[in-house]
Amino acid sequence: MDIQKLDIGVLIIGAGPAGAGVSFFLSKFKIPHIVIEREVFPRDKVCGDACSGKTTSVLNKANPEWMEEVYRNRTQYLPSWGVKFAAPNGNSLSIPFNPKRTKTTKAPGFIAPRLMFDNFLFEKMESPYCTIYQGAQVKSIYTAPDKVTVHVLHEGVDYMIAADILVGADGDKSIVRKKFIVENEVSKTSAVGLRAYYEGVTGMSRENYIELHFLPEILPGYLWIFPMGNGMANVGVGMLSEVVRKRKLNLRDEMMYALKNNPQIGPRFEDAKLIDKVYGWGLPLAAKKKKPISGDNFLLVGDAACLVDPFTGEGIGNALFSGMKAAEAIRRGIERSDFSRLFFKDAYDKEVYSALADELKASMWLQKICKYPWMVNMLINKANKSHSLQETIIGMFTDVDMRQQLTKPSFYIKALLNK
Ligand SMILES: Cc1cc2nc3c(=O)[nH]c(=O)nc-3n(C[C@H](O)[C@H](O)[C@H](O)COP(=O)(O)OP(=O)(O)OC[C@H]3O[C@@H](n4cnc5c(N)ncnc54)[C@H](O)[C@@H]3O)c2cc1C
Repeated sequence: MDIQKLDIGVLIIGAGPAGAGVSFFLSKFKIPHIVIEREVFPRDKVCGDACSGKTTSVLNKANPEWMEEVYRNRTQYLPSWGVKFAAPNGNSLSIPFNPKRTKTTKAPGFIAPRLMFDNFLFEKMESPYCTIYQGAQVKSIYTAPDKVTVHVLHEGVDYMIAADILVGADGDKSIVRKKFIVENEVSKTSAVGLRAYYEGVTGMSRENYIELHFLPEILPGYLWIFPMGNGMANVGVGMLSEVVRKRKLNLRDEMMYALKNNPQIGPRFEDAKLIDKVYGWGLPLAAKKKKPISGDNFLLVGDAACLVDPFTGEGIGNALFSGMKAAEAIRRGIERSDFSRLFFKDAYDKEVYSALADELKASMWLQKICKYPWMVNMLINKANKSHSLQETIIGMFTDVDMRQQLTKPSFYIKALLNK
């Protein structure tokens, strides 16, 4: 059998947002790299399709012109100006992401079908420093002192690619994570989600607010309705896997029941039509105990590193952000010729976790609160009456210090007393 041998500094497995994030910044640093992708782009990814300010901020760092392109394409990227929370008792609270906006302010978030958005990112990976093999199959990963070798089958040709650094950007079921960090194979905090595309949903906000519904039928998970650019809506549910297992839930049935019977939601779906099938996928949520996300000659990014926000389910922003941080750590490693576990622990794990620590902590609290419907009802009732509480909740989306408040019991006592 004829085997092609390649030698490269950095090999990335996976070309989703995390792999693209690594590649953008490696190209910026003029570091040659190879990307191996199983699918052929454009490819779909089950998702709520909502991108937050973190996505925008990383893309702006990679190339400020890219976001301008996104803003111009209004048929595929819908700007979103706020969020609506609906409590189990049916009361809701709508809050703008940026109440101080002017006519020139750009929307802090946007909704874009992943089929389009990931392809947009994929095309932006093109650079003289990046070689992509898509539709490629990873057969095995071998470790040797100071190198990782990956056996890849691409268009009938076998490749043995030796790399100084392997980056696992291969999503929820990462084979790189399984190879290097066995205890991460099953994460107790993981969640599952369903996504459905609908047309004809009524009652959508004029300013494209995303909607999070904490329905009694779905708690401690939630149902989302996100508007899309073409008159459609991305509708889905997310729930902790252990709850699904324990209660032996059929998540699809739960979602369909809520869409038909919930008094607030049902009437809005009376004439709505389901487009395509309902698809499910895992969400590897960030856990309280920080797991290693690098080691000798490897790093994990995005879902492979379990970086999904445990409250919002947001993972695109953290995938791009960890990709950027991985590229920065790799650049420093190359400068020092150091690809060791100790170096990456400091240059990568510490950097990522310290940047995300506060928001992840707040999200873990919020996730816990969702177990108590009365608490969600109370918070939304009070926020509707209290301007200062509304401002705190707005701050959750714009200001990490504000999010910190949510981790303090005093916040809930004050809210309860309406102070
Ligand atoms: C139901 C649901 C709703 C969600 N909603 C949102 C939301 O609204 N907003 C948000 O920000 N996040 C959301 N997320 C999370 C978000 O989808 C992920 O966090 C994000 O896709 C992570 O990006 P990634 O690049 O790490 O992984 P992925 O997007 O999964 O990309 C991984 C890539 O690696 C490739 N790959 C995998 N295995 C191999 C292999 N062996 N060899 C080669 N290539 C391989 C895959 O084909 C894929 O292209 C949601 C997730 C789910 C499941």
